Amino acid sequence: MQFHLNGFKAGDPKVHPINCDNSGKENHIPTKVDVMIAGCGPAGLCLAAQLSQHPEITTVIVEPKSAPMEKGQADGISVRSMEMFQTFGFAERIKEESVWINETTFWTPDQKIPTKISRVGRVQDVEDGLSEMPHVIINQARIHDMYLEIMEKSPTRLKPSYNHKIIHVDIDNADDEYPVLIHLKQTNQDNPKQFTVRARYLVGCDGARSTVRKSIGAKLEGDAAHQAWGVMDVLLNTDFPDIRMKSIIQSAHEGSILIIPREGGYLVRFYVELDKLSETERVSERGLTEKDIIDKANKILSPYSIDVKEIVWWSMYEIGHRITNSFDNTGVSGGLSRDPYVFIAGDACHTHSPKAGQGMNVSMGDTFNLGWKLISVLLGYSDRTLLHTYSEERQKTAQALIDFDHEWSRAVSKKSDLALSEMPTVQRKFLEGGKFTAGLTVKYQPSILTQNDEFQNLAKGFPIGERFHSAMVDRLADAKPMQLGHVQNFGYRWTLFIFAPQDKELRSTQLQSTLDSLEQEDRSPIRKSSIIGLDPDQLLDLRIIYPENFRELEYSDMHSVLKPRKGKYGLVDYEKVFCAQKGINSNIFDLREVNRTKGAMVLVRPDQYVSTVLPLDAATELFGILEDVWPNLNV
Ligand SMILES: Cc1cc2nc3c(=O)[nH]c(=O)nc-3n(C[C@H](O)[C@H](O)[C@H](O)COP(=O)(O)OP(=O)(O)OC[C@H]3O[C@@H](n4cnc5c(N)ncnc54)[C@H](O)[C@@H]3O)c2cc1C
Repeated sequence: MQFHLNGFKAGDPKVHPINCDNSGKENHIPTKVDVMIAGCGPAGLCLAAQLSQHPEITTVIVEPKSAPMEKGQADGISVRSMEMFQTFGFAERIKEESVWINETTFWTPDQKIPTKISRVGRVQDVEDGLSEMPHVIINQARIHDMYLEIMEKSPTRLKPSYNHKIIHVDIDNADDEYPVLIHLKQTNQDNPKQFTVRARYLVGCDGARSTVRKSIGAKLEGDAAHQAWGVMDVLLNTDFPDIRMKSIIQSAHEGSILIIPREGGYLVRFYVELDKLSETERVSERGLTEKDIIDKANKILSPYSIDVKEIVWWSMYEIGHRITNSFDNTGVSGGLSRDPYVFIAGDACHTHSPKAGQGMNVSMGDTFNLGWKLISVLLGYSDRTLLHTYSEERQKTAQALIDFDHEWSRAVSKKSDLALSEMPTVQRKFLEGGKFTAGLTVKYQPSILTQNDEFQNLAKGFPIGERFHSAMVDRLADAKPMQLGHVQNFGYRWTLFIFAPQDKELRSTQLQSTLDSLEQEDRSPIRKSSIIGLDPDQLLDLRIIYPENFRELEYSDMHSVLKPRKGKYGLVDYEKVFCAQKGINSNIFDLREVNRTKGAMVLVRPDQYVSTVLPLDAATELFGILEDVWPNLNV
């Protein structure tokens, strides 16, 4: 973490100086805003945390409830979400507070006495080498707290406007600047005030019953499995031996259970299969209670049992898989306008069963994709058309989740078929879907943001369209061993990783020439940043990785573009140059199959997805790609 750039400041370096007139004014809702966010769930707060860093952008987030969430709902954090949390700076705190899922166990009816269950398999939960991050479990409320803290410490001190809900949305096509008319209502008054706010953009993160979705005419479409499930968080004693493992249990006749150990060492979550519902029936009509969940759990677990001491939270649900055909107002038939002004994210546009543990992860992934695009447009660097890529990219991601979740839900609910093969179907599906549940199968298709794979073979381990897969390196200036991917912070800045070639001639020709171009050419975003008064690395962060050991190189020999001068004193940033670690298991060139002789350039988007891989002499192509992203960055 870097700080003191613009002068020494005592105290918590994560607290930014206040830089906004409206900062800290709780429940102050201006009549005109740049972005309004509906809903303080994980999707809404992830977006609010990003926007809160920009005093130039007026952001409001409204929430009908009167206070932050305390318990319940989702708890699974995929390794991909942990990588994203690293950019926000709270992954280490989550690692410390959460329970890590290292092993998953599988239980089916005993072959000799089928009324009893027995363990038939155990699997390492996250395959080695998939990510530097673990798969963890922690209550959704704690994730909300982390985002709220970032907002509190941001230059805008953004606070949610609790006790307000959106009741309807209109688009005024005649108003090009503030086309979205948002009708709001207070939720905590006897005579609630209703009022209207105009916004440039509205993002509906208002959950499965989204008002924003309905207002833009989008519909959640899909199917339901007509199966009731109960979920409870409990403190208990039990003789079931795998209570601190993630366990999938299929009984002969009573149904299935998914056990998830929870943070703190004692708390446990149970997902318990209850009754089959008729085609027209809702789970709420059954009058099921927490006692039904406990009774059923004891039947499925036989010969083991649970002695519940405290029920912290419980709920009933039925499995449904639903998605909208567009995640903004443009794709809806009879849509309200051709430009995207209204977006929906998270459960508002896709719902699935909780058992694959994806709801919160994919919802945050949606707004992590949208946040930097909105910021680039609102700061004036990018064109509004960039915003079309949100729905294009995330709708496909959500559809893939729904397809996977269909299969996974069926496998969990299916009666055990162990007698027919060596491994129950559920264990096989778990192994097949490992990369998916880790959140690592997202691959964005070619667009202005993600290029084709012409030069992919220069760095095969950084697949274009997939997230940048970090690996260990040593920082040259101070010999610090660290994950290269951890240099990326959340925001709208792109990163260019240059892998220096081993070939000395290529180093003095291609590499030298590209570094010169990045420093001197008018088309270079690094030069453009300096000209418009930003720090040179504010739009494009250049990092270089040498194949040598850090003791074989001198920092003073580095090209001046790798030693940018920043802030009010023009201080040199010493953290741009890295060296590969020794050893085949930790050398980034080996691990990520980077061509050692020729080197490579790997361009990474602000949301950590690889945009392109280019040869070292392709500075012109690089500038062209970035000019498409920032067409308005004319100097
Ligand atoms: C009761 C319940 C139980 C769940 N249990 C599990 C579980 O066991 N495991 C699991 O993995 N997932 C579970 N989920 C799903 C998981 O919580 C979601 O996938 C995840 O929270 C989605 O995040 P989100 O931000 O899109 O929506 P949400 O977390 O649903 O947040 C939506 C927010 O919008 C607010 N809102 C609603 N209407 C308006 C309006 N008109 N204007 C402004 N704001 C509005 C809501 O109050 C809420 O705070 C559960 C969800 C619910 C609702």
